[in-house]
Amino acid sequence: MEESVLVIKAEKYLKEISNDDISIDDIDEFENFKNLYFKLDDRLKSLKQLRRDMEVQGYGTPFTSLNKYGTKSIGEVSLEEVSENSRHNQIFRNKANAKKNILDRVKSAIDSHQIALAHLDQFGYLKCDSCYKKYSVSEYKQLNGKCSCKSDSFSFKISRQNTYRIEIIPFLPLSGNYRVLMADLSKYGRNSFKKVINALKQERTGHVKTISPLFRYKDKN
Ligand SMILES: [Zn+2]
Repeated sequence: MEESVLVIKAEKYLKEISNDDISIDDIDEFENFKNLYFKLDDRLKSLKQLRRDMEVQGYGTPFTSLNKYGTKSIGEVSLEEVSENSRHNQIFRNKANAKKNILDRVKSAIDSHQIALAHLDQFGYLKCDSCYKKYSVSEYKQLNGKCSCKSDSFSFKISRQNTYRIEIIPFLPLSGNYRVLMADLSKYGRNSFKKVINALKQERTGHVKTISPLFRYKDKN
């Protein structure tokens, strides 16, 4: 596939995702839960395929082939050539930036989908009506509707012990739009976010194994 075709394809796919409103209304009904989980899981597969295609085409390091004057030394390069080269470089630079940005968005979309799926996985599970075997929804998806005991009758259960926050799912940057969402944060929110990210990047010495976030919020009154 031609390089820029992949950028257009990824942009189109992320746009489709952003146009699709995710709802968790009546998520305790199996059909709604299943439809949401299956949709996000299928999308995750497509996003991962996109990421693989991009990485194969060098989207991770798009600037490496940027070479000012080819194999000539500076003395041999005419003025015309310099200006032609700088125009060419500008075009190349723009294309490289586009590749870097779209790969960044695809990665963010992958992370967001994984977070959403993990919460759903913790939220609900299935129990075979015949042998009472329990399945997570990801296991259930592999079964194609049949338990190992051959029964195809399951009950949907909501976990009482697991930890999940499915209400965050509609707010995740599922289309890789984390920069847009970040721009909507207050200055305080942006700074706090940066602090957490920096801590995770282990900018300071030593390993960060745990982070305890402290949230302060201002009441409107
Ligand atoms: Zn069974």
